[in-house]
Amino acid sequence: MKSTVVAPTPIKKTKKYTDRILGIYDKNTPGPTIICICGMHGNEPSGVIAFEKVIEQLRHQQLPIKGRLMGVLGNMSALEKGERYNQYDLNRLWTAENMMSLQQDRDHRTFKDALEQKELHETLTSLLGQNQHPYYFIDLHTTSAKSTPYISINDTLRNREIALRYPLPIVLGLEEHLEGTILNYINKIGHISLGFEAGQHDDPLSIKNHEAIIWLTLFNTHCISGADIPALKKHFEQLSGSINKGKNVYEVRYRHAIASGEHFTMNPGFVNFQSVKKDQALAINGQGSVKSPEKGLIFMPLYQSKGDDGFFIIRKIRWVWLKFSAVLRRTKFHRVLHFLPGIYRYNALNYTLVINKKIAKWFVVEFFHLMGFRLKRKQGNFIIFIKREFDVDAPHH
Ligand SMILES: [Zn+2]
Repeated sequence: MKSTVVAPTPIKKTKKYTDRILGIYDKNTPGPTIICICGMHGNEPSGVIAFEKVIEQLRHQQLPIKGRLMGVLGNMSALEKGERYNQYDLNRLWTAENMMSLQQDRDHRTFKDALEQKELHETLTSLLGQNQHPYYFIDLHTTSAKSTPYISINDTLRNREIALRYPLPIVLGLEEHLEGTILNYINKIGHISLGFEAGQHDDPLSIKNHEAIIWLTLFNTHCISGADIPALKKHFEQLSGSINKGKNVYEVRYRHAIASGEHFTMNPGFVNFQSVKKDQALAINGQGSVKSPEKGLIFMPLYQSKGDDGFFIIRKIRWVWLKFSAVLRRTKFHRVLHFLPGIYRYNALNYTLVINKKIAKWFVVEFFHLMGFRLKRKQGNFIIFIKREFDVDAPHH
C-alpha cells in the first residue's frame, strides 16, 4: 500500500489589507489592553495569520475577557508584496529624531515605509489615548533561518517580570545594537513590550507558535482565566516543546554589522542558539573568513538578502546575577554610582553617566547592564551609559 504524507499547508505569502486595525476583541469589562503588532516586516505574515485565527476563535466561542485584545498591522504595503520592506526597514525608523519630528508634525519624509510609520504611530497614539491601562505590546516576528522560538526584550524589570512567565528563552540587550525598533519607542514611552520570534518565515509551525504566544499572553496578563482558554496546556507545550536549550536568559555580546560593499555570506548550517568557539569561521566577506570574536552562542545568523545584521553572539546570564540585578535596581543603587571615582553624572534628568576608563579601572560593561543601563557610545577612554526608562516603576498616568 502506498503511504501518503500530508504536506503542511504553506503560508499564503501576500495579502492586501485596507484597515490597519486587524481586529479587536472586547467585552466592556475593565482590564489591560494587549496590542499585537503583526507584520512589521512584510515577509513575515505568520503573526497576522495567527492573530486572525485567535480572534476568530474568541468571537466564535464568545469567551469572557477582562480588558481587550487588539491586532495592529505593521508594514501593510510590504505585506501586500511579501517583501521585508519597501525602501527602509520599518522596524529601524523609530529613532528619537524621527519620533520628535512626528510628534511635532514636521516630518517630511515621503518614502513608503515612512508613510507606514506615520500612520502606525497615529494609530498607536490614538489607542494609548483611550487610557485603557496597563498596555502590553507583543511584536510578532519570524526569522530567515529555521529557529527555536524566543522572546527578546529591553532589559527592564517590568519587561522581565512578564517575559519570565513564558516557557521560552529570553534575549536581553538587542536594543543596544539595533537603533530605531518599535519596541525601543514603546519602552521609552513607558509600556511593557516583548518581541517574539516564532520560527522560520514560511514554516507553518511559526503560526502555531504565534497563536500560542497570544493565548499565553491573554492568560499571563489575567485577561482570560486559564479555565476559559481552550487548550491552554497545548499552547504551553507547543512553545516549551519547541525550544532546544531550556528557558535561559541571554545577553547580547557582539553584533556583526555588515558594511556596505562587504559581500557578506553566512556559512551554511548555523541555527539560532548554536554554540560556537572563539575564532570559529562563521561567514565570508570580501576580506576572507569572518570569525567569532568570542565563545558563546550564535544568534540571528543572516540567511536572507536584506538586512544589516550578519549575526550576533550571545551568552547565558546566570540566575543569581539576574536576581542580584533586580535587588540593585529596586534599591535604586544607580543613584550613588557617580560618587565613585571615574564616574560622572552627565545628565541627572534621564540619568546619563560618563565613565572614564582610565580612572575607573575596575569598570566592566556587564556591571552597568545589571544596573539597568544601556551602552550609548564609546569615545576614546570614555563610555556613555543611559539608564533605561521605567525600569522598575510604570509612569504615572
Ligand atoms: Zn521581523
